[in-house]
Amino acid sequence: MGPLSKSFGGHALHDLPMDAAAVAVARPRIQPDALLEVMIESIPSGLCIFDHDLKLVISNGRYGNMYGLGPEQIPPGTSLHDILAASAAGARGPLNIDRLRYDGPDGGGPRATPLVAELGDGSVFTVSRHPMLDGGLIEVHRDITDARFAEARAEAARQELIERQYAIDQAVIVAITDLQGRFIYANDNFCKISGYSRDELLGQNHRILKSGEHPPSLFRELYRRIARGQVWRGELCNRSKDGSLYWVDTVITPQLGPNGKPAAYMAIRVDVTARKRAEAQVVYAARHDALTGIANRAVLLERIEQALQKMQQHDAGFAVFLVDLDGFKNINDTLGHAAGDALLKELAYRLKTSLRDAESVARLGGDEFAIVQEGRAVGREEAIDLASRVMDIVSCPFELDGQEVSVGTSIGIALAPVHGTSAGELLKKADLALYRVKSEGRNGYSFFDEEMSRKVDTRLQLIKDMHGALHRDEFRLHYQPLFDAKTLRPCGMEALVRWQHPVLGLLAPDEFIFLAEETGFMEPLGRWILRKACADAAAWPDDIRVAVNLSASQFRSGTVFQVAVSALTEAGLAPERLELEITESLFLQNKDSNVAAIQRLKDIGVTIALDDFGTGYASLSYLLMFPFDKIKIDRSFTQGLSTRADCAAVVASILALAKELGISVTAEGVETELQFELLRNAGVDHVQGYLLSRPRPLPELDIVALRSFARPGVAA
Ligand code: C2E
Ligand code: CA
Ligand code: CA
Repeated sequence: MGPLSKSFGGHALHDLPMDAAAVAVARPRIQPDALLEVMIESIPSGLCIFDHDLKLVISNGRYGNMYGLGPEQIPPGTSLHDILAASAAGARGPLNIDRLRYDGPDGGGPRATPLVAELGDGSVFTVSRHPMLDGGLIEVHRDITDARFAEARAEAARQELIERQYAIDQAVIVAITDLQGRFIYANDNFCKISGYSRDELLGQNHRILKSGEHPPSLFRELYRRIARGQVWRGELCNRSKDGSLYWVDTVITPQLGPNGKPAAYMAIRVDVTARKRAEAQVVYAARHDALTGIANRAVLLERIEQALQKMQQHDAGFAVFLVDLDGFKNINDTLGHAAGDALLKELAYRLKTSLRDAESVARLGGDEFAIVQEGRAVGREEAIDLASRVMDIVSCPFELDGQEVSVGTSIGIALAPVHGTSAGELLKKADLALYRVKSEGRNGYSFFDEEMSRKVDTRLQLIKDMHGALHRDEFRLHYQPLFDAKTLRPCGMEALVRWQHPVLGLLAPDEFIFLAEETGFMEPLGRWILRKACADAAAWPDDIRVAVNLSASQFRSGTVFQVAVSALTEAGLAPERLELEITESLFLQNKDSNVAAIQRLKDIGVTIALDDFGTGYASLSYLLMFPFDKIKIDRSFTQGLSTRADCAAVVASILALAKELGISVTAEGVETELQFELLRNAGVDHVQGYLLSRPRPLPELDIVALRSFARPGVAA
């Protein structure tokens, strides 16, 4: 039993506005009191009835629960005022009592709008008051907390949507099209970016945005998705009214109609043109040479890969060219880097504009370019044709700072598939071919051949081996004596280096000196040679000098003077007993410091000889540039003496000039008696050659025995 049993007192039922008595009549077996109790308890609201003094007559259990009041707190007879106070102080309080006060009917009839009771725990009730004729009052309390909450949520959601819509309209481009693709909505941003007014847009087909940048397949996929009610997202390029293109990150959402099928499409776009532009710049930079704007190495490799693929499919060969300028460094050095850059730009332009469609050029860096030549059937003939075209293109003079400048070209060519079937292999082989052109005097082209490959393999191996060779004591000095042409007395010994290679055997200097020069190894090796030669010579008779060859590369770090002086001091050898043989390549470097170092050595008493005289272009002029003590006529002249009239003439004029300048002359490479006679008669001071002695290691050279040579007539 509910609280009703207690609260229900002996009040007259006819006071109630409800037709409870009629119900009681219809069901005679149930007691009217009990009936009323059941009825009041079953009402899904709080109910309470007050008499004309506003004292509680009856209330249901729900009412007490709603305000957190137990039946003992609201016995019949409690005043409305006290109940309100108890409710405010109860477990679910406080309560907005002021609004709920009741002083009697104010005009009769139920109030149009119910009062609202808000409790401290967040519950919200409506309170409907129904005054009775006798001054009593019926109150119905309904819990609307959930409804209120839902309503508040709906309101908040509505508000949020409005705000979001506003934010979206500010930030992004919104357009809605109907099923036929006509615009039915366009926000300000869309008008702005598209360049069309809203009037121009509405009713127009969205095709007016088409840029032509996308393949039809992209749109097919787009329509397929949205027609099925799915969302499509992607980056699109659109065209604005003035024709300019812009990129938008686009989300197209179908708006479904009541039948669940799309009724319209909403496109939300974000302008990503700036990002796209930046991306394009990055891609461009990654694929183009910064200076000339033509393709770079990455693109070249890609082209070769593509050509390789095509080759497999169509069996069509192609060619890879490496093009290197001759004398470019010189232009950079003399005219400055700006002029060098201008030349490269001009050349890139010439190549790009004059090559054919199937020929693509790239710059690899510095003055090195590469060309991939494709076509129906590219073989030697086609490659030669392109090589000569490129040489013509380069050979046209360049105008730099109002000055006409010419450069030559060296071109290395590798053919696919004969020379290689990978980009790396083809480039490496074209490089080897280029290397050959360079080493054979430049300005020309060359195809790769297998011989080059072998050379390079040993070359790399030798470079590797060379670095440990000094520590392993693998270098040797052989000596070749020089003789006085008249008396045949030995007057000096030329140190000639050899390398006792553990696998390859005894290597001649021609096989490794150039590698030492290229790799910076000539300085340590040259230091060793000087020290060893001076130490050896210290044990020889005082009238025998030692001659040591110096490479131009030994002058690079500027320590040559110091190195020679310490070699002499360490060995205790007088500077007068050292002869240094240099070639005119030292002067080609055009460095004052080289000449100064030689001069300092000459100043302390070292003899300076100009070696290989006559092989260079301007030997005679160098004779006037530096006060040499000695010149050594190259063996090619010695060997041409007896057969070629011009050789005899050259030797005669060298001798005449040398006499004039007080320089002594040595002839090297004397192999025959005839050569010896001719030279001696021409007035050569010293001779050297296989006729008299080959270069030998020291233990085999008996210097004392050599002296016995010095008898008149021995050589005759
Ligand atoms: P080079 O200074 O002109 O040396 C003379 C070369 O001619 C030597 O060759 C020698 O063996 C060779 N020769 C001597 N007499 C005759 C002859 O009658 N007939 C022929 N056909 N050849 C003769 P090698 O020893 O092979 O040296 C070659 C070159 O290597 C040298 O030419 C020199 O430029 C360089 N070289 C040798 N040793 C050294 C060195 O210690 N330091 C430097 N920097 N270069 C060196
Ligand atoms: Ca020499
Ligand atoms: Ca020589």
